[in-house]
Amino acid sequence: MLVGVLALQGDFAKHEDMLRSLGIQVCQVRTPQELEGCDALIIPGGESTVMLRQLDFIKMKEALQDFAQERPLFGTCAGLILMSSSVQLSTMKPLGLLDITVERNAYGRQVESFQASVGLHLASGHDKIFHAFFIRAPRIRANGEEVKVLASYQGEPILVRQGHLLGASFHPELTGDPTIHQYFLEMVREKKRA
Ligand code: GLN
Repeated sequence: MLVGVLALQGDFAKHEDMLRSLGIQVCQVRTPQELEGCDALIIPGGESTVMLRQLDFIKMKEALQDFAQERPLFGTCAGLILMSSSVQLSTMKPLGLLDITVERNAYGRQVESFQASVGLHLASGHDKIFHAFFIRAPRIRANGEEVKVLASYQGEPILVRQGHLLGASFHPELTGDPTIHQYFLEMVREKKRA
């Protein structure tokens, strides 16, 4: 299994470290050609406006949209914003992969970044506490019926799944806890078996 990490900007290296620590082969993705060879892709946190401009510039938006039709994608923080269907109070045109509406920076500014213990509901009977880092995180303001909420914070979704697409408003690569990455890898294996 080869998992790509979009490496245009942001904290892609932390996702690479996490995947390697789980024995997974990783490749940095900066072109549609590099994307083609991957079984799945992670879009990291960073600055969504910058990443979107870069994606437009290298004409990679469509390649990502095509990729997401068939293969698993996991977006964290800015990556979640890129995967969303709409961004409130903004003219941004995200990729429209997850049926969610987000609001950027809606938990506060950089100095108001925080850590919280949240409950993950990944499988029935296997609930678990996860220490989540929120860094200028987006809030998921609305989600469609097909979107499954796997974790919430203060009554709002923070980890969501829609088919083979996964999105987190926080940074699961920063804690050293591999639970969410393992969950995503299981989604990738499931998809490969299907
Ligand atoms: N606030 C950033 C954005 O809107 C996301 C922050 C992050 O990825 N940690 O793109």
